[in-house]
Amino acid sequence: MVAIASVVENTCGFKSLISELYNIVLFGKCRCSELRWLSFSHKKKILNGSQLYTYSVCNVGEHEQDNWLRTTFIQRRLSASRVFVELQFIVRDCNSFDGSSLTCKETFNLFSSESDADIGTSFRKGQFKKVATIAPDEITSRNELRINTETRVVESLSRKGFYLAFQDIGACMALLSVRVYYKTCPATIKSLAAFPETVAGGGVNQALREVAGVCVENAVSEESPRIYCTMDGEWVVPVGQCQCMPGYEAVNDTCRDCQPGFFKAFVSNDACELCPVNTKLLSSGALFCPCAEDFYRAPDDPTTGPCSGLPSAPRELVATTTQLAAGKLQLSWSPPEDTGGRSDISYSVECRRCEGTACQPCGEKVRLEPASSGLVDTRVAVSELEPHLNYTFTVEAHSGVSLFASQGTPRSNRPPSTSTLTTALHYTDPPKVTSMRLDERSLTSLSLSWAVAPRRPVPQPTRYKLTYRKKDDNLDVTTYTVLILEKSSVQISDLSPGTAYLFRVQALSPEGSPGGSSIEDEFETLTEGKEDGHISGVIFGAAVGGAAMLMIVVVVILIRKRSATTFFSPLCPSSFFKQLKPLKTYVDPHTYEDPNMAILKFASEIHPSHVTKQKVIGAGEFGEVYRGILKAPGRKEGAVAIKTLKPGYSEKQRQDFLSEASIMGQFSHQNIIRLEGVVTKFKHAMIVTEYMENGALDKYLKDRDGEMPSFQLVGMMHGIAAGMKYLSDMSYVHRDLAARNILVNNNLECKVSDFGLSRVLEDDPEGTYTTSGGKIPIRWTAPEAIAYRKFTSASDVWSFGIVMWEVMAFGERPYWDMSNCEVMKAINEAFRLPAPMDCPSAVYQLMLQCWLQDRSKRPRFPDIVSLLDKLLRSPESLKAIADFDPRVSIRLPSTSGSDGLPFRSVSEWLESIKMSQYSENFTCAGVVTMDQVLQMKNVDIKNIGVRLPGHLKRIAYSILGLKDQTSTLSVFAV
Ligand code: AMP
Repeated sequence: MVAIASVVENTCGFKSLISELYNIVLFGKCRCSELRWLSFSHKKKILNGSQLYTYSVCNVGEHEQDNWLRTTFIQRRLSASRVFVELQFIVRDCNSFDGSSLTCKETFNLFSSESDADIGTSFRKGQFKKVATIAPDEITSRNELRINTETRVVESLSRKGFYLAFQDIGACMALLSVRVYYKTCPATIKSLAAFPETVAGGGVNQALREVAGVCVENAVSEESPRIYCTMDGEWVVPVGQCQCMPGYEAVNDTCRDCQPGFFKAFVSNDACELCPVNTKLLSSGALFCPCAEDFYRAPDDPTTGPCSGLPSAPRELVATTTQLAAGKLQLSWSPPEDTGGRSDISYSVECRRCEGTACQPCGEKVRLEPASSGLVDTRVAVSELEPHLNYTFTVEAHSGVSLFASQGTPRSNRPPSTSTLTTALHYTDPPKVTSMRLDERSLTSLSLSWAVAPRRPVPQPTRYKLTYRKKDDNLDVTTYTVLILEKSSVQISDLSPGTAYLFRVQALSPEGSPGGSSIEDEFETLTEGKEDGHISGVIFGAAVGGAAMLMIVVVVILIRKRSATTFFSPLCPSSFFKQLKPLKTYVDPHTYEDPNMAILKFASEIHPSHVTKQKVIGAGEFGEVYRGILKAPGRKEGAVAIKTLKPGYSEKQRQDFLSEASIMGQFSHQNIIRLEGVVTKFKHAMIVTEYMENGALDKYLKDRDGEMPSFQLVGMMHGIAAGMKYLSDMSYVHRDLAARNILVNNNLECKVSDFGLSRVLEDDPEGTYTTSGGKIPIRWTAPEAIAYRKFTSASDVWSFGIVMWEVMAFGERPYWDMSNCEVMKAINEAFRLPAPMDCPSAVYQLMLQCWLQDRSKRPRFPDIVSLLDKLLRSPESLKAIADFDPRVSIRLPSTSGSDGLPFRSVSEWLESIKMSQYSENFTCAGVVTMDQVLQMKNVDIKNIGVRLPGHLKRIAYSILGLKDQTSTLSVFAV
């Protein structure tokens, strides 16, 4: 409410007596007296004791009263069309007068008149319009003064100003104050829009006034803000919302900067938000929070969202090689541990193929399915791998930010940009069978052999799957027989005469998966009465029959031709199961009355003209061993070893000599020395075997002391164990298994050799006569075999344990220079060889198992093969090294020479530890006394030129042992 009027003008002699707040001008029509209002009434003390001045009139005893009082010109401000007139007045009770007041009134009238200019004192009644008759609520009696307050509205004002006038028509009254005002809606801020002070109500007779507003600073609005001001001065119905701009939030009708660490990205009246995770906290007024270092937003990520890091590497990458031979494997992995806070993880797989140290991308050569990148699943199928190559697969986890991150400037703290895990695979596929031929046939048997395509680097022991069936199986079923064979030839017996059979052969990988198929070949058994003229080739004795079979699986596959029901062959399957002969058993040539028959049976005869001796490579019990060439018709020319029989031999010696060939000829295994043939029909008998370029294993290792990694040594042991498993499967007991009887070829394949019947008795220099009779290589032989000649595969296992030790100790002599007697005594007292230097713990544990007193508790060769296989498959398992005691492993002369006295010279000491080759290094370095040796530290040994880690250790350990005077002989306790 705003007061607009209060002008004082004292005209016509009226004194203007006004209330404290408001001045009212009273004036008469022409002369003050004519208006008959008293300009001044007597002072009265009313209300809080303040004096009250009034315009009063009280002509109650007179007729026809018409007294006027008019205000000065009141300017209409701000176009207010509606003004309020608040009057305070007193009206005297007519009854309080005596009978003389017959015309007494108790009301008066309010008039108004509009004008564009102040008309001064000219007053004309006719110009005024009546606004209202004012009656008091309380009238004043003689004793008591009652002030009334009444408010009336003067509406529809439109000119520049107006006058108010009061008409008295015979009342006794006094006007105390007149307050003229209009109402406004006050200046305000509503919904972030500022509205100015506005006169209430609209134009003439309009209840609402529409007012336009302006958004406050840092606020905007799509629609200009409006509001309505009511007649009562109230704001109603705001229209159009103002909202704070980005970086600002609404606080108490203003838009304030977002506080540090907060942001607001959009125009809204929301509060600023806390910066999301992995973002930088800016100072105030942030529109968004940029990513912290090493965190990113993908282009599609909202700028208001969190930033993400790169995913960590995929975990547990494994390759499953279900169809290795088909060049297929499956790679699978687990999602990264840290996805960087994202769910859009995908993977890419990179394949590299390595030959030696040279690696290159696999490119198109290898197929990755479903794709090599953009993989959502955590697996991929890899195919078209080539054999004999190392493949390295790198699986990388990606997310929406990976690309973005790689484009960014590299920063110091970024997590590894490549989240990769690498695995290397090596696979060897089985060879491809290229041709099959019929070697021999009879009425009921067919002897077949087949050739395989040459492979690199070295053929692994290969097994074959031979499937055959009758060609014209015109019954309702077709019966297939499946044989798993260990060599590339077979004799199949129990066949029907004059019948055609279809054969298919496939090579199997070491894991047992098939390689490429051969062409199906058809062969027919002889028909009675017909001669077979065209077969020559390899001779198979009847007993050889299934000799090559590692395992015979007869599978009768019934393929229904007409009936809807599957059923078994009407051909009794038992006729096939007859072929389930036991695994081939070794046949002791001694069981032949005529040993020459055994030779004939198990070895093929070679004409001496096909054999060329080149160089003596060794000396056997019966004569020299030569390296030579075998060049026989129908065979590939190749290097061979030729064992000869000295001139002047007896028939017995000849038979003993050739018995080795009778035995060897029964074996066919990658890790058994292969017999090429014999020369028996000529004066100089010979045994021809495959040539092993690296000679005997013990010597080979001695020459490479400390130079070969455990992995390679264990690989060699694995080969020997595989050969021994084969022999034990055939019930052959070797009796003289030792590193000296293992031969090594160019590919470091180890093959068991030395099968002569008399070898233990005569041939082996390690053979020692025992009380039980016979010669026994004590250090290699199990106690029960020494004690009561109980030679079994379990005693071969003991010997294998000693071979393992020889291998790990690089050809060291078992039990060093202890006498056989000492060795037997130590073994009986439960002492065992200690772990060689740097021997993997798992390998030493296996040795100890092989040396268990109770032979039934020793592992069997199949167990040994699979354990070594396992170790080779996880080279990690070879990392744990068995405890090593230098005093025992370097052999006891650590504190003294062989005569028990301290070493007299450096060279004597070096010789005792088999390091004589360094004598000169010590001399040149001025280390000439044992005292000086004892002062040497590892670095000194290195500095004088001992570089090989194995040798360094050997010398260092020996010095350690020399210093320790507590060396003792009780060294083998386990
Ligand atoms: P042996 O009579 O079988 O013990 O042979 C005597 C030596 O001749 C062996 O220690 C080897 O050094 C060598 N030797 C025997 N057979 C072969 C072979 N197949 N290849 C190479 N060297 C052999």
